[in-house]
Amino acid sequence: MSRSEFVLALAGGVGGAKLAAGLAEVLPPEALTLVVNTGDDFRLHGLHISPDLDSVMYALAGLHDPVRGWGLAGESWAFMQAFRRLGGEDWFQLGDQDLATHLLRTQLLHDVSLTEVTATLCARLGLRHRIVPMTDDPVGTRVLTDEGLLQFQDYFVRRRAQPVLRRVMFDGVESARPSAGLIAALQHPQLSAILICPSNPVLSIAPILALPGVRAQLQDRRVPVVAVSPIIGSRAVKGPAAKILGELALPVSALGIAHYYDGLLDGLLIDSSDEALCTSIRGPRIRTAPILMHELADKRALALTVLDFARELHR
Ligand code: GDP
Ligand code: CA
Repeated sequence: MSRSEFVLALAGGVGGAKLAAGLAEVLPPEALTLVVNTGDDFRLHGLHISPDLDSVMYALAGLHDPVRGWGLAGESWAFMQAFRRLGGEDWFQLGDQDLATHLLRTQLLHDVSLTEVTATLCARLGLRHRIVPMTDDPVGTRVLTDEGLLQFQDYFVRRRAQPVLRRVMFDGVESARPSAGLIAALQHPQLSAILICPSNPVLSIAPILALPGVRAQLQDRRVPVVAVSPIIGSRAVKGPAAKILGELALPVSALGIAHYYDGLLDGLLIDSSDEALCTSIRGPRIRTAPILMHELADKRALALTVLDFARELHR
C-alpha cells in the first residue's frame, strides 16, 4: 500500500478481530483506523464491558485466546470460582486477567470518553494502530425473538443465541453521535477504501451502519466499500451468523451477505470453495480467496488480498 492511502475498517468481535490483526500487520498505524461495534457493550457487576473492543485490542496485541475465540490466552478463572461459591451470577464468564481490563475501563470512564479509555488501554498494551469505538454514546442492543424481547447478552450468552431472531433493535442509536475517530476516518483526505470485516452483519456491523449519517456516507462514498464474507458454504466460521440469516429469510450463504449489504458494497470477497456463487451474486464485484483465518499468516494474507481487491476497484 502506498504512503498516501488510508483505510477505514469496520469490525465486530471475533471475525473482525482476526482481519483487524492482519490489517495491522500490513498497514502502518497512520494508514488504518479500526472502528469497532459497541452495540454489545453492557454493565455487569458494576463494570463497563466492551466485548468487541476487547476482542480487537487483544487480537492486535497477540494476547487473544485463539481456541475460545474471546478473552485472553492463558486465562485463569479463580475469581469466577469464588464468585460462584458465594452465589454470584456466573452466566457471563470473566477471566482473572480480563477483569483487569473491565475494572480499569470502568474507572477511567468516570473522567474520560470511551474513545480516550480505548486509546489508553491500547497504548498500555503497546499497540500503535488506532482502535476506536463506533460512538462514545450508549447504544444497547435488544433482540425480538420467538421467546420475546431479550437484552443482547441475555440472548447471545445466557441463551446461546438459541431463540429464533425476528428483529434487532439498537436502543439509543438514533441520538448517538459517531465517534470523532469514525468521522475523521470517513473524512480523511487520503481515504482509499472502506472495509467491512467478516463480522456478523446483523449483530456486529448493523449497529455501526445505524449511527446517524454513517450508512448514507458509505452509500455516496468516494471510495470502494469491500466486505469479507463471514459465511463459508452454508455455515458461519463461528457463532450464529448463518442461523440468523436463515431466520431473517435471507439465503444462508455468502449470497445472503450480499443481500444484507444491498446497495452498500463495491466488492465482496468470498471463499474459494464458494466459486459457484459468483454468477448468482448481483451488485458487488466478487473475488474468491481462502478467507478462513487460523494463523497470523492467514490474517496477513487475507488483509493483503482485500486491500489489493479494493485498490483494483478504486481504479
Ligand atoms: P462477535 O462480535 O465476537 O460475535 O464477532 P464478529 O461479529 O466480529 O464475528 C463473528 C463472525 O466472524 C461469525 O459470523 C464468523 O463466521 C466470522 N468469522 C470468524 N472467524 C472467521 C474467519 O476465519 N474467516 C471468516 N471469513 N469469517 C470468520
Ligand atoms: Ca460482538
